[in-house]
Amino acid sequence: MDFQNPRYTPMSRRRKIYEGKAKTLYEGPEPGTIIQHFKDDATAFNAKKHEILDGKGVLNNRISEFMFQKLNEIGVPTHFIKRLNMREQLVREVEIIPIEVVIRNVAAGSLASRLGIEEGTQLPRSIIEFYYKNDQLNDPMVSEEHITAFGWATTQEIDDVIALAIRVNDFLTGLFLGVGIRLVDFKMECGRLWENDMMRVVVADEISPDSCRLWDMKTNEKLDKDRFRRDLGGLIEAYTEVAKRLGIMTENEPLQGTGPVLVKS
Ligand code: C5P
Repeated sequence: MDFQNPRYTPMSRRRKIYEGKAKTLYEGPEPGTIIQHFKDDATAFNAKKHEILDGKGVLNNRISEFMFQKLNEIGVPTHFIKRLNMREQLVREVEIIPIEVVIRNVAAGSLASRLGIEEGTQLPRSIIEFYYKNDQLNDPMVSEEHITAFGWATTQEIDDVIALAIRVNDFLTGLFLGVGIRLVDFKMECGRLWENDMMRVVVADEISPDSCRLWDMKTNEKLDKDRFRRDLGGLIEAYTEVAKRLGIMTENEPLQGTGPVLVKS
């Protein structure tokens, strides 16, 4: 099967598999593939806050493509195959492990408020946390004990997830450092990829400014979804700045359907 040259299926004939807050998944052109469509919806606080931000999906598709391609290149297993168009990418079908893995390098967000640590404090070492993916329960934080006791993942799978989280964090920290951005924290999801009778844990979902905290090294300006969560405005400009620094988008490249977008100099 040639994953690099998938057959084209018209949008109207596609079967929707799942609609999430920021992405929709469609059946892919070949068995074992999925099309991941990035929407412009921005949500926070378990979708209590919701807005459409024109062009966000395009930016996240491009930035996430960049991250996953690089991870594939350095041998970190991921679900990513290729980007298909402005809003969509082809990925391998995986069984998502129902755990959100958060890796933190600097205190911010829920860690800062929960433990009373000032935002921006460098952590003595990177900290990995697990949250159970369940909207009705507001994604509660859980321990490895909960994960194994309730059968969400095995001990071996947790070990694999932790190993991936450390590798991805080290790689992304360096990547962002090179473009003057501090990777404060990020969320990662993993999935089980079945190949014949073999199963591998791979990085799945997306890695974008929606799922990372990214601060400008010099000014500490937030270049991530906190701009929306905290009503700071300028989210599209911030995501465009991230894309521009990574060399993904050129100065005047338009976001589909939105007309030209000004990029801060
Ligand atoms: O809110 P909190 O500080 O726990 O978030 C930690 C990191 O995980 C942030 O980068 C945030 O964007 C990300 N996150 C996410 N999806 C969630 C919860 C957190 O992408 N459901």
